[in-house]
Amino acid sequence: MLQPAAVTDTLTAFAESKLAALDAQSLLRRLQPTRREDGLWVERGGRRLLSFSCNDYLNLSHHPAVKAAAVAAIEAHGAGAGASRLVTGDHPLLAALEARLALLKGTEAACLFGSGYLANTGLIPTLVGPEDVVFVDALAHSCIWAGARLSGAMVIAFEHNDVEDLARRMVEARPGARRALVATDGVFSMDGDLAPLQALSDLCAAHDAWLMTDDAHGVGVLGDGAGSAALAPDARIPLQMGTLSKALGSYGAYVCASGPVVDLLKSRARTLVYSTALPPASAAAALAALDVIETDPDLCGRPVRKARAFTRALNLPDAASPIVPILLGDAERALAAARALEDQGFLAVAIRPPTVPAGTARLRLAFTAGHSDEAVAELAGAVRRLLAA
Ligand SMILES: *Cc1c(COP(=O)(O)O)cnc(C)c1O
Repeated sequence: MLQPAAVTDTLTAFAESKLAALDAQSLLRRLQPTRREDGLWVERGGRRLLSFSCNDYLNLSHHPAVKAAAVAAIEAHGAGAGASRLVTGDHPLLAALEARLALLKGTEAACLFGSGYLANTGLIPTLVGPEDVVFVDALAHSCIWAGARLSGAMVIAFEHNDVEDLARRMVEARPGARRALVATDGVFSMDGDLAPLQALSDLCAAHDAWLMTDDAHGVGVLGDGAGSAALAPDARIPLQMGTLSKALGSYGAYVCASGPVVDLLKSRARTLVYSTALPPASAAAALAALDVIETDPDLCGRPVRKARAFTRALNLPDAASPIVPILLGDAERALAAARALEDQGFLAVAIRPPTVPAGTARLRLAFTAGHSDEAVAELAGAVRRLLAA
């Protein structure tokens, strides 16, 4: 006879031993209730902190027009989509947003997904399988790796941003007619640097490989809002994924591609077919965010300008995106640095393995349009003192 209590005991004991091991390495993570008051300030543990850790680069999650669009969509269409898009969840707002994103990216079509994680784990297995090979930049986002592994294809890492290394591996690993997909972040989420999209595009064209970029941190911020691909004007990037959840202040994600590729995704991507559609309010908020960006072209460039003021103040290499990592090495040192900044009123979350490679724990600073020049200078002073200590 089954003994539920005994089963629970081994399960709980398993969890406890895993937690103890993580804690011993300073790798235990705890959720911290955080009230975001606007695009800049948060309240945590009874204190108000100026956030340099949100990806809300244009502070649009709290923009009056964006919030009003979401509220109006909830009033008109309800709080949830009700079903998968292929059943009854395909609200017309989704098609309107897809058309808008395709225009922004210069592609024939676009396909929305519930989130960036769902987009990458849906897209990659739709296009490649066990006969194929996926080349992934060593520092690409976790959900690109998850999608690549889920596809069953051979997965090969190439050195970060190293097009020559990729070229060598392509020749070695691709005998015969194997299809090949190359996947990379456009802006690397934990390092803030940019993929060499022009060179990657040329290499992929020469080898008939399909190039996929994840522009979660580029859209709305680089290339006048069109994203990192817009900085490489001759690049041909047939698969441009990005999210609505960062600079666009909403939630959800997209893949921009040719009409047939998008049709295939809508028919076969499991994370679209078997998952409830994005709530109409999320689409309405993203559409309103795109309106704001279009009417205020100066807005998009501001986060990178703030990041650059910070890197110049510290004599670091010029920031290429709104993300600036301060590498500290071990996890305990990164946690101590985050605590020291919190004592001075800044929220700068420590990023530890496995989010980043072992030995590269860091503070990951994210600059937004609304940060004042004074606040950026104050943060630079605080970080300088920290590094000197
Ligand atoms: C945040 C992020 C994702 C995941 O997007 P969500 O919509 O938050 O699931 C995917 N790729 C990159 C590069 C990201 O930074």
